[in-house]
Amino acid sequence: MFVVMSPTAGEAEILGVKGRILAEGLTPYEHAGARQLVIAVVGEVGARREELMQRLGGLPGVETVTPISRPFKLTSREFHPEDTVVRVLDAAVGDGSLTVMAGPCSVESRDQLFETAEAVAAAGATILRGGAFKPRTSPYSFQGLGVEALRYLADARERTGLPVITEVMEPNQVDIVAEYADILQIGARNMQNYSLLNAAGRVARPVMVKRGFGATIEELLMAAEYIVAAGNPNVILCERGIRTFETYTRNTMDLAAVPLLHRLTHLPVIVDPSHATGKRWLVPPLALGGVAVGADGVMIEVHPDPDAALSDPEQQLDLAQFGRLMAALRPIHDQVQSMKDHAIVDGPAAAGVVDALAKH
Ligand code: PEP
Ligand code: MN
Repeated sequence: MFVVMSPTAGEAEILGVKGRILAEGLTPYEHAGARQLVIAVVGEVGARREELMQRLGGLPGVETVTPISRPFKLTSREFHPEDTVVRVLDAAVGDGSLTVMAGPCSVESRDQLFETAEAVAAAGATILRGGAFKPRTSPYSFQGLGVEALRYLADARERTGLPVITEVMEPNQVDIVAEYADILQIGARNMQNYSLLNAAGRVARPVMVKRGFGATIEELLMAAEYIVAAGNPNVILCERGIRTFETYTRNTMDLAAVPLLHRLTHLPVIVDPSHATGKRWLVPPLALGGVAVGADGVMIEVHPDPDAALSDPEQQLDLAQFGRLMAALRPIHDQVQSMKDHAIVDGPAAAGVVDALAKH
């Protein structure tokens, strides 16, 4: 549930509400809405719900108390109607601009990273990606350069000015990755690693969570909920394809997830057509498709010599291909932005969307 404070409520009344919530063994989360303060009540409410709603509703300064029927609370549009904008250095994700995260699957050497970073920056990428710790299906495959790669990423940020995103695979890597990187990435294989999600929730860096290949949209939102509940509101979601019976593509890119997520949550949504398709020639059309359905941006793997890459050689674009993709993405993004306020078919109101979806 969340408590909407009256616009005239003072400090003492706000403290009174928060104190009551804490006294119940629950946690208050404040959100300054456009007009008034909203306080989410998070925790195991159980059978106390009705009684608690009445008790909180009777406190001075409280305007209304509304239940949140979804299992995801802090990440829901019900609690937080405005879009979250994640700001990192000069980049903003979710503000209506086109976010383009680009760079190699793995950081392989200083030269490989710098050449890629300079080319993607010149082509208009807004964030540099590069894997330092690599989750590989085979223990015999290249596992990443680790901390050495983190240093190259930090140097590449110095050269290009681009913020850096890289994957963190374990809770005990969170501090070191946060020391070098601007955004932490939680990979598909770790989307339900709850100790990692909690650890990422305790650092002062934005986190991008990639959808697990067997995860529902609700499970992705619950993963994000862990991070926000642990204290980190700067979460970005990434649709990177789910596993289906199809074998021509590495995964099946769930484009419907993008508008669905935008309806259910205030968090920005990125699509990753590189891991979703696993095929170089499918990356541009699916990147365009992701932006066309309203993604806040894309993540694209780029390598100076893709065929020689130490990981994911089949899906990385070369530098020229990436430049051409950037040129194609911009007009699509502009077109989608200009249509934003003109829904062709109205969907269910955000608050009722899960129920409405369940019925169809
Ligand atoms: C990656 O982006 O480097 C990666 C490993 O992706 P995913 O976790 O989506 O497989
Ligand atoms: Mn990869």
